Amino acid sequence: MKLEQILENLSLDAGNAKTLFAKAMAVKKQFYGDKIYLRALIEFSNICSKDCYYCGIRKSNLSIPRYRLTQEQIIEAASSPLALRCANVTLQSGEVENPNFADEIAKTVREIKRATQNKVRVILSCGEQTREVYKLWKEEGVNRYLLKIESSVPKLYSKLHPENHSLQRRKESLVILKELGYQVGSGMMVGLPFQTTEDIAKDLLFFKEYNIDMCGLGPYVEHSDTPLYNLKEIPSKEYRLFTSYKAIACLRLLMPDINIVPATSHDALDPKGKLTALMCGANVVMLNLTPPEERKHYKLYQREQSQLDKDITAQITELGAEIAYNDFGDALHFTKENN
Ligand code: SAH
Ligand code: SF4
Repeated sequence: MKLEQILENLSLDAGNAKTLFAKAMAVKKQFYGDKIYLRALIEFSNICSKDCYYCGIRKSNLSIPRYRLTQEQIIEAASSPLALRCANVTLQSGEVENPNFADEIAKTVREIKRATQNKVRVILSCGEQTREVYKLWKEEGVNRYLLKIESSVPKLYSKLHPENHSLQRRKESLVILKELGYQVGSGMMVGLPFQTTEDIAKDLLFFKEYNIDMCGLGPYVEHSDTPLYNLKEIPSKEYRLFTSYKAIACLRLLMPDINIVPATSHDALDPKGKLTALMCGANVVMLNLTPPEERKHYKLYQREQSQLDKDITAQITELGAEIAYNDFGDALHFTKENN
């Protein structure tokens, strides 16, 4: 698909989009059958040194208590029966760059691998780090890394971040992660203020160009304690959700064998958001295992308390999909390239 075609697809109305979704589902089925893979998500710290204008845990938001789970808490969640059934644990945090942080993560990963007898894939999502740190974590057995580009378009990126945040470094980090042999995930937010349809299309082409193995994609959700909140009108909920579904479908057609994960933000706008995304071409679901006490304070965006602990596995089964328990669910894109 060329830019023009992606733009056309992203602009489809509800009636015509059905054909796009059906095509994406057919491609997904061809590569992944009816399987939906699971990832356990542990948001282990909301301490962040960055100030992204859209994010509720940015360092300048002084109204939230900061936490960091202890190694014991992380290991307990990562080796819980549900995490083992997911066969995957994603550890996510704000961005912290210092040797202590790097060493502690390395130690935690080692302990998780030991406690679970290597029965889980470990995925890290801790922002930009040096090549040395990424290498250290890889050597500890981390399998995948998730670093969303947020927006690959310089003009938009600079509207969403302070001047000292570098899109170039983020892109370079993705290259380094690939070079080190990680399964690399990236991703974006859809429906951001200032974002055009062309920006979205360019991001999808960026993922193709950077040859990523997985993608986390979801709607932008506002947070009143962030600078972006009052800066410009926020697109309607309906637009953000619907466009994110079309973006997922386009990406499935563009990169048929990657893993596509609806972002947690889908459910903040619609209780059935993630489920709908699975019917548009996504094939992976995150289950949040962050202890509830801390999870309250990992608010990247606004959401209701009632949305915290929902387990959607029953609803997935109702859709006729098959949940791939105890399955690493590596991206076929990665497996093919590395065999
Ligand atoms: N600090 C790391 C990982 C945690 S943030 C990093 O930034 O890479 C994880 C993701 O949350 C971000 O990549 C971003 O895409 C998403 N996010 C942050 N604020 C958001 C918002 N207001 N709406 C939707 N997603 C948001
Ligand atoms: Fe920090 Fe990530 Fe939020 Fe940016 S998006 S402020 S790096 S947690």
